[in-house]
Amino acid sequence: MSATKSAQKLIVGNWKMNGLLADGEARTEELVEAIKARKSFLFDMVLCPPATLIGVLTSLGGSSLVKWGGQDCHAKESGAFTGDISAAMLQDLGCTYVILGHSERRQNHKESSATVQEKAKAAHAAGLIAIICVGETDAERTAGKANDIVSEQLAASIPAGATAANTVVAYEPVWAIGTGKTASADDILNMHQHIRGKVGDLAILYGGSVKGSNAAEILKTPNVDGVLVGGASLKVEEFLTIATAA
Ligand code: PEP
Repeated sequence: MSATKSAQKLIVGNWKMNGLLADGEARTEELVEAIKARKSFLFDMVLCPPATLIGVLTSLGGSSLVKWGGQDCHAKESGAFTGDISAAMLQDLGCTYVILGHSERRQNHKESSATVQEKAKAAHAAGLIAIICVGETDAERTAGKANDIVSEQLAASIPAGATAANTVVAYEPVWAIGTGKTASADDILNMHQHIRGKVGDLAILYGGSVKGSNAAEILKTPNVDGVLVGGASLKVEEFLTIATAA
């Protein structure tokens, strides 16, 4: 499996801590049927359900039309880490991707960029593609520090062995996540250009209140190789509108 940047946009759905088995199955089946019904499409779709659902969903008929990812993994291969999940466990269930350093992990679990880097190394060792999230807070942007903060996070979070085949970057301004506020077209353009200068040919996703109504404009911005979608990925129609805007 490779994340090498292609003409296909990468559309990643982060379901966060939402949904029981019946919801996850119904959502996956509806999505897969809608994708099957299209003769051709210009996107690669990755679904990141709660860890409890991954094993069942990856074995549903037709689920090979989408790729699967975890929302986090531990930096160690195994051991006394109650409640944690290793990269190899995700891979074993059929995942090819894992989201790392999401702002909700950085904030709620006090994850540093150094920890994110260790997790990315573990993901690579297990053959997973790491989607490494970076982004500034509202206060940091207001203080004119957005580029510096993102540069620091990139430098400290991306491991030395990262290539376009095993690493994707997601720019997610913290103030835009789950708030309904999207970064302006100019902010996205400028930040993605800034990130491109730091990460070379790694794919760069935008995330932060992406919806059907703004996806086309975001996806046509230079250096936007796809989107990471939270809330809107829980609604099949809305998520498909985003994917087909690609
Ligand atoms: C996210 O959680 O990565 C995200 C971008 O959320 P939302 O789309 O809901 O803002």
